[in-house]
Amino acid sequence: MTDSIFVEALMRLDKAFKFSDINQEALEKLKYPKAILQVSIPLRRDNGSLQIFTGYRVHHNDIRGPTKGGIRYHPNVTLEEVKALAFWMTIKCSVIGIPFGGAKGGITVDPKQLSRLEIERLSRSYIDSIKNFIGPDKDIPAPDVYTNAMIMGWMMDEYSKISGQYTPAVITGKPIPLGGSQGREDATGRGAFICIQELRKKKNWKSQEIRVAIQGFGNAGQHIAQLLYDAGYKIVAISDSQGGIFRPEGFDVPSIIHIKNNSKKIQAVYCTNSVCESIEATNITNEELLELDVDLLIPAALENQITKDNAAKIKAPIIVEIANGPTTLEAEVILIKNGKMIIPDVLANAGGVVTSYFEWVQNKAGYYWTLEQVHQRLQEIMVREFLAVYQLMESHKTDMRTAAYIHALNRHVEAVLAQGTESYFDGT
Ligand code: NAD
Repeated sequence: MTDSIFVEALMRLDKAFKFSDINQEALEKLKYPKAILQVSIPLRRDNGSLQIFTGYRVHHNDIRGPTKGGIRYHPNVTLEEVKALAFWMTIKCSVIGIPFGGAKGGITVDPKQLSRLEIERLSRSYIDSIKNFIGPDKDIPAPDVYTNAMIMGWMMDEYSKISGQYTPAVITGKPIPLGGSQGREDATGRGAFICIQELRKKKNWKSQEIRVAIQGFGNAGQHIAQLLYDAGYKIVAISDSQGGIFRPEGFDVPSIIHIKNNSKKIQAVYCTNSVCESIEATNITNEELLELDVDLLIPAALENQITKDNAAKIKAPIIVEIANGPTTLEAEVILIKNGKMIIPDVLANAGGVVTSYFEWVQNKAGYYWTLEQVHQRLQEIMVREFLAVYQLMESHKTDMRTAAYIHALNRHVEAVLAQGTESYFDGT
């Protein structure tokens, strides 16, 4: 992770600025996070020793509503990274038109080195450290890399104990019996799937002819793989942090998910009734996966995967960014020059935060929706905003990320103007 990730993230603003309605003052404000909290989190290890971990929570901007953003557990978490992720959340909530600002949190920890009990104690301890910084009308966390529904449940429980009242709306991505929403689990993948299906209509693709490579096979990666597979797309390559597999004929995605969730490994298998047999496939590295000759490349792992060093070798004409920030600025210049289209993270992975918004609304109302209602409302929002961004891309003859940022800035500035501007206050 470079120190410049936040600075680099902000540079995307400047490109969109000239096409948008935002003024210089409002743009300037977006370059500074509203508040930053760094905490030292004590954890009693199973062997009785005490270990201190560093955690963060950043509020980026809250003009459009309480801040919202996930919590990441990863050894490479830094303040710079959390600031960049919080900034992207502000842009994403604005692109997609939900009434939230941006935030993010994280702990610098390798959760694979902790027992489940230790992860529970760490999660509760983190909430204890940030309790005054979050709240259902202030800042609402959610899952991100290496955190999941169960961890969100523990965090909600801890916050409820501290505040002395059941407070499900303080966190989203919870298990359904603890106030979670139907449809939250696969929402990020589903949102990306809706974008791909809209693009398919525009390009007149036949899904059976589309070869897909997916980097990262956690929550987001598995669900996009399953949804595309169900719709007839050919998933020819899959990887996780250990490496990947490639098979030009495509994989039986349910089998790969079954084995990954049982053995924690990606293996080329075909399963019948939980009995799995190996099938022929080539083992590939994560770097090789990115450079495969496929139609759709889906980075669904971490930031900075497509860089100036490998951008020229990317063959896929379309890149769908489910991960946050997988393409660096320098890489993007090369990709665009080579005619590649990128459905940017702030649009492609927004299905997660949209359904988190639905969860928050349901928690506040105490009235819960059916899966069909969640799917139908997610579909409506994703299609509407995808088409709006697409239209801006065409009318400004620009790339899709710049179009998404123009869309976000235009919406953001409506809120800024509603609070009064320099010219309003000086009477001009
Ligand atoms: P996850 O923890 O469920 O899965 C992460 C996956 O990435 C795992 O399969 C892991 O093995 C793999 N991975 C880690 N390092 C890797 C590497 N160097 N190369 C290849 N694979 C690697 O996380 P997730 O929730 O699926 O999140 C994945 C990405 O999607 C992140 O960038 C996250 O910010 C973004 N995202 C997730 C959500 C959500 O709702 N889960 C929403 C928006 C964006």
